[in-house]
This record gives sequence, structure tokens and C-alpha cells, in this order.
Amino acid sequence: MGFYVTTPIYYVNAAPHLGHAYSTIAADVMARHHRQRGEATFFLTGTDEHGEPVADAAKAQGLEPRELADRNAQRFRDLMPVLGVSNDFFIRTSDAEHGAKVQEVLQRVHDNGFVHKGLYEGWYCPRCADFKAENEIAEGNRCPIHEIELVRESEENWFFALSQFQERLEQLYEERPDFVQPRERRNEALSFIKSGLNDVSLSRAKLTWGVTVPWDTDHVFYVWFDALLNYYTALTYARPGEDLVDEFWPATYHVIGKDILKFHTVFWPAILMAAGLPVPEHVFVHGFLLGADGRKMSKSLGNVLDPLEVVDRYGVEALRFYLLRDVTFGGDGATSMEAVGRRYTAELADELGNLASRTTAMLVRYRDGEVPATALDGALAADFTGLDATVAGHVDQAELSQALDAIWQRVRRLNRYVEESAPWTLAKDDSRADDLDRVLASLADGLRIVCVLLHPWLPETTVKVLDALGAPSTALQDARPGAVALGPAHKLEPLFPKERDSVPPAAAAS
Ligand SMILES: [Zn+2]
Repeated sequence: MGFYVTTPIYYVNAAPHLGHAYSTIAADVMARHHRQRGEATFFLTGTDEHGEPVADAAKAQGLEPRELADRNAQRFRDLMPVLGVSNDFFIRTSDAEHGAKVQEVLQRVHDNGFVHKGLYEGWYCPRCADFKAENEIAEGNRCPIHEIELVRESEENWFFALSQFQERLEQLYEERPDFVQPRERRNEALSFIKSGLNDVSLSRAKLTWGVTVPWDTDHVFYVWFDALLNYYTALTYARPGEDLVDEFWPATYHVIGKDILKFHTVFWPAILMAAGLPVPEHVFVHGFLLGADGRKMSKSLGNVLDPLEVVDRYGVEALRFYLLRDVTFGGDGATSMEAVGRRYTAELADELGNLASRTTAMLVRYRDGEVPATALDGALAADFTGLDATVAGHVDQAELSQALDAIWQRVRRLNRYVEESAPWTLAKDDSRADDLDRVLASLADGLRIVCVLLHPWLPETTVKVLDALGAPSTALQDARPGAVALGPAHKLEPLFPKERDSVPPAAAAS
């Protein structure tokens, strides 16, 4: 089985923001790490394009929904290279191949006896495209997520018999305690299931911008079921002429935000069970990135951190590092440009950048770029033995901040090693040439290992350093002391120039 990771597909009407960048970068780190392990890997992202809000917005602008979707989807597609993201495919739910596969799978759900007609009446949030249960309605009859007033809706729909899956879902959660991570989100999903499941709308009658229900062509599928199925349908047409389902289904990880928990942890496994398909291995639910004041980001509060401004000011690698370093992946956390600047200066520039330039400069100055082929310092090497397995273990659990921290401890260890062993003093004493050889070789190999392991977070920087060390392999199996020969080494330009810190975002953007 290959490793398959997905982001949520992004609602095409939204402007790309930090939350989109966050989910996508996290999934990218997981995909890159698994590629380092030599595993067959598939990484999917894309856009969710059907439903009322797109149809309404298009109408207001005098466009066909398709035209608006084409225009807006492009903004998300363009974002991926800016974020350094290595997705294997970009799905759009308006793709004809997706629609045909949605019809095929949901026809099976119908034929298996899990679909019936009924009248739905309830409080509906058009932005969520979802009816709200009584306990989900915020004060003033508002959507707790969008804070807009709910509308009373009633229509004859096709229903999915979710209530029939209560027992099987409880059993799934029992048998696979890590189906939903972290634990608190698992408990939240499970208690929703245990509170009792009602059948849910599978179709909308008044809408045409969607996938047509094959057994009742006056209806389109409710946008959420159409959207969820992207994770499966993409595998059937991402590579023309190939069906990747056998290799990559079920997905290893769906990375999602906690605002779409219910759909991914309750509706999604149930509809797959109804279609006779295996359910994903893990759903990882990350938290919310908040403003510097710890409140939800909003233009009116002026606390929005724009990912593109971070990229302009500090570079994409700083954004990737910051998001998984400053906020523990899985929890909520405050964000700000000042905090990015602190991480950039204190860690990327002063710790990693400084270590890389000192190490390569000393190899050039003292040994003409040759990396001495000598035994490594045993005490230092011991601190790196097993680190590859530690990092892999964390990434397997989607503990991306913990993995990063384990590596960063070794970046600091290497900087201490430079201070303790003082190569500049050894270099003045010819009788200590062997000691200097050992220190330089150990430093170079340690730097090599942290760069192999950091590669998923900092893909460009680490390749520059590995190239400067004359040891370009990024394979995870090489992240062990003495695994590969190094050299010749050459000097590096500063990886994280300090001046960037003083460039105001407005100037950088102009
Ligand atoms: Zn809402």
C-alpha cells in the first residue's frame, strides 16, 4: 500500500488565506517525508466548486457558475508553487470525471438500500451549506462558525440513512482508537455519534450547480457528499489511463481543520460503508490559527496574518517552518508577523543558517573543502543514532511539530559542539590536526543528517546545504551517522539573510 495524504478541498469562493496554507503545507511535509522513505506516495489537494454560494455569487456578477469557478480555482492552483507544495494532482469537483464517479458511487449507496425520500425542514447556513442541529445553533439563531443568521429551509430531498450506521461507526471508533486524531477530536466525534444520528439530506431540489442525481435528474447531490468523494474519485483519473485506487485507497491521512470535523469523521466513513468501500486510516484534525490577540482572524480586528506577505518578507521556507514550529500541530495558536520574525532570526538565521555557514566555511578554510574521512566523534554520533526512526515515528502520528523539535534539538547540539570543540583553536596547533579532522568530519556529518531530516519542512534550503557538503542524498535511510561519504564542500551564501528582517511588508510587496 502506498502513502496517500489529502488536504481539504478549498471552497472556490474564498480568497486563499493562512488556514489554507497551513493545511496544505502540513500535508506537503507528510508527503515529502514519505517520499524520502522511498514509499509510493500520492498527495492530493484541490477545490470544492459546487453549491448555492458559487451559483449565487456567479449570478450577482452576471456569470455562469462554471466561469466563476474557473477563475477562482486558478487562485488556489497558483498558490501551490508559491507555498513550495509538491501535490501530485489538483482536483476540481467540476471535473467531468469526478462527477461521473460520484454518480457511480452514490448510485451504489442507493442500490444498497441506504437512500429514501423525505421532507427536510430546518435551520440552514448557506455558507456552511449545512442544516444545523438544535445544539449547533449559536445565540441569535446564528451559525456558530460564520456568525450569520440561519434561514428556515424546507424541501423534499433524497436522504442518506445515516441513522443505520450508528453502531458500525461506534465499532469503528472502538476498534481503531487512532482513526481520528488528536484524541480530544476523536472524543468529540464519538460523542456526536453517541448522541444519536439522524438521516441527512443527500440531494437538493432547487439547485442546478452540482452533480445530477442519476435516479432523479431534478436533483443534484448535496455539495458535501460530492466534495467528500473527491478523495476517492481523484485516484480514478489523476493519471490518465491509470486507476490508482488499488495502490492508494484507503487514504492514509485526511488533514482537516476542526470546523469540518463532523463531515469527515461521521458522514464520510458512513457513506463509504454504505457504498461498500474501505474507510480512511486516519483523519488528523488541526486547530485554528488565530490573530496575535488570540482572537479569530478578521479584517475588522486587523489581526490577519497574510501568508503571501510572510513569503514576500521572509521567504516561503520561513512560512513553512514557522507554521509547524510556533503552533503545535493539532492545537490552536496565535500568529503574527512579529512571531515569524523572531523564529526567522533566532532559529533559522542564528541557529541553522549560522551552523551551515560556519561548518562549510571551516571545511574550506582548514581543509580546502575536503571532508576528512576519519572516525566520527562517538559522543556526538550517539546523539544522532536513532533520530531518523524518532522523526519517522512522529510523522507517522502526524506529530509534525514534535518531529521538527526533535531535529531542532540536534541543530542546537551541533552549535554547542562547535563552541565546545573550538576548531579555530585546534587549527593553530599542528599537533592536533587529527582532532581537527574528527571535529570537522563530525560537524559536517551532523549537519548533513539534520538537513536530510529537515528536508520536508525546508526543501530548498536543505538541498543547498547538502549540495555545499557534497552529499546530495535526501533519502531517509541516509540520515544516520557515517551513512554516506561527503565532499568536496564549498562555501554557502547566507541562507537566511538578516537584512530581510528590516524590510517592511509594504516595501517588499511593491
Ligand atoms: Zn455557517
